[in-house]
Amino acid sequence: MVPKVVFGEGCFDQLSTILSSQTKEKAPFIFLVDDVFEGNIAFLNRINLRFNDKLIYISADEEPKTSQVDTLVKDIKTEFTNTPSGIIGIGGGSVMDLAKAVSIMLVNQGSAEQYQGWDLVKNKAVYHVGIPTISGTGAEVSRTTVLTGPVRKLGINSDFTPFDQVILDPDLTKGVSKNQWFFTGMDCFIHCVESLNGTFLNAFSQSYGEKAYDLCMEIFLGDTLSDDEMRAKLMMASWHGGMSIAYSQVGVAHAMSYGLGYVLGTKHGVGNCIVFQFLEEFYNKDVALFKKMVAKHEVEIPQEVCKNLSEEKMETMITVALGMVPLWENALGSNWKDRINRDKLRELYSKM
Ligand code: NAD
Ligand code: ZN
Repeated sequence: MVPKVVFGEGCFDQLSTILSSQTKEKAPFIFLVDDVFEGNIAFLNRINLRFNDKLIYISADEEPKTSQVDTLVKDIKTEFTNTPSGIIGIGGGSVMDLAKAVSIMLVNQGSAEQYQGWDLVKNKAVYHVGIPTISGTGAEVSRTTVLTGPVRKLGINSDFTPFDQVILDPDLTKGVSKNQWFFTGMDCFIHCVESLNGTFLNAFSQSYGEKAYDLCMEIFLGDTLSDDEMRAKLMMASWHGGMSIAYSQVGVAHAMSYGLGYVLGTKHGVGNCIVFQFLEEFYNKDVALFKKMVAKHEVEIPQEVCKNLSEEKMETMITVALGMVPLWENALGSNWKDRINRDKLRELYSKM
């Protein structure tokens, strides 16, 4: 679990004070910042760089890769003799995941791809701080960092992955476009649906999942919240949704969305939406609610993304999705193969 968190409008300004207690001699803080903030002077002035601290802009156009982590780690080690005092990730799930992975790989040998899996990390990561600027993924609270490697898209899941500190300032999410707000917000909604309807469900996950689900209903189908309230509540929904899956698992939408992401580069949030609209047979009531949300917010979910897929790519997509065994087990139980096979996945993907 994340041991320290601050929450509230404007709390981003506590960053310098928080970091001051972690400063090591001649060891910089490295700020990985979503490049959407490049040139935003008012925002950048709130990050007080000292001495040899370094700010690196990160594009979130593509999801994080193991090779990208390796390059960042190599560059930091080349430029600085001392291991950094800390890594601070400021952005969405993409940048936060990169920050987590870099903080691990600075003190663990080899390439990030060697650590994709469960509990493979040996050494405690460098101190790392997560600051979300868009809400929904739960990456700020989770025990994983999702990376695309040469052979698979899989997280580095470990006790050293969670942030040491998180700063939840809802004001930072003000500039997010409506579509992106919806797609990343639906990631949270789908986390709740998959956790609450999964066979791995337990009282811990359920209590967080139900809270996050209710918040999503209020945010995406209600009419009473102000913009400030919506931002604050979605930030907390993301946190609770992340907590819910930390102790259970996601399900059908995520397994299939990983396939889309791997083959077509479809990003996580929109990929989940593309898949979820066709999952009535698994999540009937919630797919209906999802469609209401789409209509209410007038968002267009991309259609026919698999239409012109080559046979080879379709096969790869199916293989990637089928490979997510724990997700299928959670969604459908230990006999999941009775309901899911290559033909079934092909039928579903063909609709998307
Ligand atoms: P993202 O980080 O990919 O960002 C999406 C877009 O929003 C980008 O264009 C970014 O520049 C923009 N953006 C971010 N903050 C903004 C702001 N304040 N104003 C304007 N634009 C802003 O989006 P995401 O949906 O948060 O993250 C997706 C990633 O999270 C994927 O890589 C996925 O694998 C990962 N993920 C991780 C976990 C986990 O537990 N570690 C869980 C779910 C998803
Ligand atoms: Zn997700």
